[in-house]
Amino acid sequence: MIINKQYPQVMTSPRILITGSLLGALALAGCSAADSETDSDTSAAANTSLTVGTAFYPLQYVAERIGGDLVAVETLISAGVEPHDAELSPKTVRDMQSMDTVLFLSDFQPAVDDAMETTGARGLDAHHIIDEHGAEEAEHEEESDHDDHDHDEETETTEEESSHDDHDHGSLDPHFWLDPTLLAEYADDVLAEFSELDPDNAETYSANASQLLTDLDAIDASYSDGLATCERRDIFVGHEAFGYLALAYDLTQEGLAGLDPEAEPSPARVREIRDMVEDTGATTIYSESEVSADAAEAVAEDVGVDVLVLSPIETVADDEDYLGVMESNLEALRTGLGCS
Ligand SMILES: [Zn+2]
Repeated sequence: MIINKQYPQVMTSPRILITGSLLGALALAGCSAADSETDSDTSAAANTSLTVGTAFYPLQYVAERIGGDLVAVETLISAGVEPHDAELSPKTVRDMQSMDTVLFLSDFQPAVDDAMETTGARGLDAHHIIDEHGAEEAEHEEESDHDDHDHDEETETTEEESSHDDHDHGSLDPHFWLDPTLLAEYADDVLAEFSELDPDNAETYSANASQLLTDLDAIDASYSDGLATCERRDIFVGHEAFGYLALAYDLTQEGLAGLDPEAEPSPARVREIRDMVEDTGATTIYSESEVSADAAEAVAEDVGVDVLVLSPIETVADDEDYLGVMESNLEALRTGLGCS
C-alpha cells in the first residue's frame, strides 16, 4: 500500500518536470519561429538594415545572397506555391507598405502587379531583362516556328493576343532565371537597389554580389561544357519554361503546352510531339517537379521513353536552392540528351 502510493509519486513528478520543460522549450521555439516568419516589422528592426519583399523564388534567392544578414527578405507568396497562380494574403499586401522595396516581375503575377499599384510600394521590376532578351512563346496554334534565336533583338510584345486564361504572362517567356547569365544581370540591378537604399552597407552588398556572380559564372560554364557535345539537342517539356535555357545553350525546346503551366495540350500538339519524339530518337520527356506531369507522362508512356524532372525553379524544396537545382537540371539534360 505504501509502496503503491509512493510509486506513482516518484514516477510522475520527474515526468511532469520533463513535460513542463519540454512544453516551455516548445513554447519558446514556437514564439521565435512565429516572430521571424509572420512579423516582418519586429524581425527587421532587430539587426537588419532593409526589409525586402520578393515575389517568387529566384528573386528571393538573389535578395538573400546579396542582402546577407543585412536584409530581411519577406516572401510574398508561401514557399511551394506555384507563382503563376499566386494570390496575396491581405496581411502580405498590408506588409508591403512598410517594405523598403519589392522585387517582382510585372506581367507575370497579376496579384502582385495589383498590390504594387494599390500599396504604392517601391519596387524593382525585372521586366526589362525579358524585354531585352525575350524568348518568345512558340505559338503552336499559329504555326510560328522556333527561329527566335536572336538573343539581343527587341521582340514585339503581343500581350493582347495571349489566348490563355487571366493569369497568363503575355507572350514573352518570363523564366529568365534559367539562363544564369541573365540572373547575373538581374543581380546587378538588385545590388544597385540595395546600395541606393542603404549606402552605408554598399560595400558589403557589393562583396556579396561578386560571390553570387562567381557562382553564376561557374554554373554557366558547367552548362556550356556539359551540353557542348550531345547526341540530341531537342528537349521535350510540359510547359515551355525553358526558352532562355534553350537560347543560351543552343537547345530546342518543344513544349506540350505553352508558357502557362495550367494550359492543357491540344490533341493535335500531343500527336505532333509524339511524332517529333520518334523522329529525333529522343529517349526522354521532361516533366516539372511542381506541376502535374500527367500530359508529359502520358506521352512518354505512349512512345516508350523515360520521364526526367527538369525544374523551372519557380519554387524549390526546403533543402534545395537555385544552384543545386540548376545542377540537377543539368544532370537530367545530360542524361536525356546523351551528352558526353
Ligand atoms: Zn512558369
